[in-house]
Amino acid sequence: MVAQVQKTSSPILAGLKCRCPQCGKGRLFNGFLTLAPRCDVCGLDYSFADPADGPAFFVMIIMGIPAAAFGVWVELTFEPPFWVHLLTTLPFLLLTCIPPIRPTKGMLVASQYLHKAEEGRFR
Ligand SMILES: [Zn+2]
Repeated sequence: MVAQVQKTSSPILAGLKCRCPQCGKGRLFNGFLTLAPRCDVCGLDYSFADPADGPAFFVMIIMGIPAAAFGVWVELTFEPPFWVHLLTTLPFLLLTCIPPIRPTKGMLVASQYLHKAEEGRFR
């Protein structure tokens, strides 16, 4: 029996914090990007959530452009050997693209919860 849990006032903010979009307290993930089966505080079943490639798409579009621009800038400004890109551009790319994926996925799951998004069905 799950106790009565107060709903969060901001599901999207809870999602960005990787918390349950219903209560804002339970964990959303088991591991880095694997969704937990349900909220460990309010019991919300996360089976509705399927952001698919959405988080990777948004992170690539938003963060990949400055990372690629940095690599192009390094190349055009210094014309360095290839290994310099391995030490500068690659870490910059990884640091700008990997950390935002988890909160982006949390936000998209919260958005699905908020808008009751699910696969279309014929009735
Ligand atoms: Zn919850």
